[in-house]
Amino acid sequence: MFDARYSTRTHVCGQLRPEHVGDEVVLAGWVHRRRDHGGLIFVDLRDRSGVVQCTFSPEAGATFVTAEQVRGEWVLEVKGSVRHRPEGTVNTNGPTGGVEVSADSLRVLNTSATPPFEIEAGISTDEITRLRWRYVDIRRPEVFAALQLRDRVTQRFRRSLERRGFIEVETPILTKSTPEGARDFLVPSRLRPGEFYALPQSPQLFKQLLMVGGIERYYQIARCFRDEDLRADRQPEFTQVDIEMSFVTYEDVLGMMEEVMHEVMAEAGFDLPLPLPRLTYAEAMDAYGSDRPDTSFEMKLTDVGGVFASSEFKVFAGALASGGTIKGIVARDGAGDWPRSRMDALNEAAVEAGAKGLAWVQFTSAGEVRSPVAKFFSDTEMSALRSAFEAGPGDAVMMVADARAVANEVLGALRLRLADELGLREPGFHTLWVVDFPMFTWDSDEKRWDPSHHPFTRPFDEHVDLLEDDPGAVRSYSYDLVMNGNEIGGGTLRIHSEELQRRVLGVLGIGREDADEKFGFLLEALSMGAPPHGGIALGLDRLVMLLAGAGSIRDVIAFPKTSSGADPMTGAPDEVDPRQLRELHLRID
Ligand code: ASP
Repeated sequence: MFDARYSTRTHVCGQLRPEHVGDEVVLAGWVHRRRDHGGLIFVDLRDRSGVVQCTFSPEAGATFVTAEQVRGEWVLEVKGSVRHRPEGTVNTNGPTGGVEVSADSLRVLNTSATPPFEIEAGISTDEITRLRWRYVDIRRPEVFAALQLRDRVTQRFRRSLERRGFIEVETPILTKSTPEGARDFLVPSRLRPGEFYALPQSPQLFKQLLMVGGIERYYQIARCFRDEDLRADRQPEFTQVDIEMSFVTYEDVLGMMEEVMHEVMAEAGFDLPLPLPRLTYAEAMDAYGSDRPDTSFEMKLTDVGGVFASSEFKVFAGALASGGTIKGIVARDGAGDWPRSRMDALNEAAVEAGAKGLAWVQFTSAGEVRSPVAKFFSDTEMSALRSAFEAGPGDAVMMVADARAVANEVLGALRLRLADELGLREPGFHTLWVVDFPMFTWDSDEKRWDPSHHPFTRPFDEHVDLLEDDPGAVRSYSYDLVMNGNEIGGGTLRIHSEELQRRVLGVLGIGREDADEKFGFLLEALSMGAPPHGGIALGLDRLVMLLAGAGSIRDVIAFPKTSSGADPMTGAPDEVDPRQLRELHLRID
């Protein structure tokens, strides 16, 4: 509850109502607006709770003179009495619009330079300027509201988890590398020349060690650091709700997480119907061309390899002959009538995404077929195509003939683009689990297997035998939580046997010595009565962004970095004093 307690005020601005008329009040806040009106001065005074109008009349003498001098964002203390606004001046816009404070005295607590932008919702000021003066930006209602929502969500996580027996444990920030697939931020050690700490990419290893330590149910609102190229909407430091549990199956982790998510969503005013739907990784890729499918609209991928099994069209026949497939999507809502240029643009997008081309067929609302490829299709193929896509007048079918993975990826990207263009997304939070990821992904550049999640993920018991001979076929006890096409969390059951952990590291090309050097402490811990365990981590920034309806995670972080990893306010990252470098035994190359 936010009120005037613990402050020099008697009331806060946003609380004043007609019931306060006659009260003597002391308020404090910022000058939101000041107007001179026929001898009267009006100051809209703003604090965190809202805005209230204060009036200064010439009878107030020196107070009036001071009021004439104040400017936007000056900090004031105003004493006065609450009264009804004169008839005809009642402002129905805000909750305090029925009253005003007739000021008897005014104290300037601080002046302010002219603010760099308006303290209003929905300003068009560019983001760099807003971040340069972030503390001014935070005074704006939508920024404050986002931080407040973030707090409520965070507190709800804490309460929900604590109620289920989880305890919050802090893990080190100065530590050793924990692989999550990104680069580490390194911190040079002054006391041990030439040695470095790594900032944690996640608390992964420590939370596993806490399970070995018998904590059984751990959580932490944990800051994580990943030195990635900041494409898309990422931050070099971000916050996870990090969770780990002992003696669990993955049903236990998913069930617990669903309940907690339901409570968190309710805190933000939304209903999350349970149980959440689940797709396996293979199903998600097949139907949506993505392992984080946006299920806020349909447009599933359809396999029409069967339709074209004996196609005379070389491109289709070639793809099938080389073990590939033909898949497609159908866009409705008049896409069948789009001009050629628009179809060409989609073709280009498909090529950019990795396809050799897009085979499209438009069914115009006038009943014509327009297509650069339909001439290669037989009548039977054409009618089978129509029925496979349930395509009617006004619809356009777009197909990719390629290796399955390529077709999926290209159509997955196209599907999202069409959803934007056609405004297909249903409102709400379309949430699901994607489970059973492959244990490894092949890195064709480096010619090696990488972990799909991280190297501590447990393979399906029945796939352990395949580890060395057919790593690509091994699936893992893994799950991602996906909301409107965003991965908002992910986790796995963990390996709790030293021997199995060594084998998995081996598949990843980390030999015995290397393993001891990098993960010796973990391997040792696994040999000391490690219980079966598993967990998950949710991206708090992204979740709050979605719940706030914000466009970027930067909008829900108090002091975010720009997309190039810089802080325009503090100037970080910055050069340092040569003496500091010397102390750290560093020289700049
Ligand atoms: N440490 C993992 C991550 O940061 C989450 C987990 O497996 O619990 O993605």
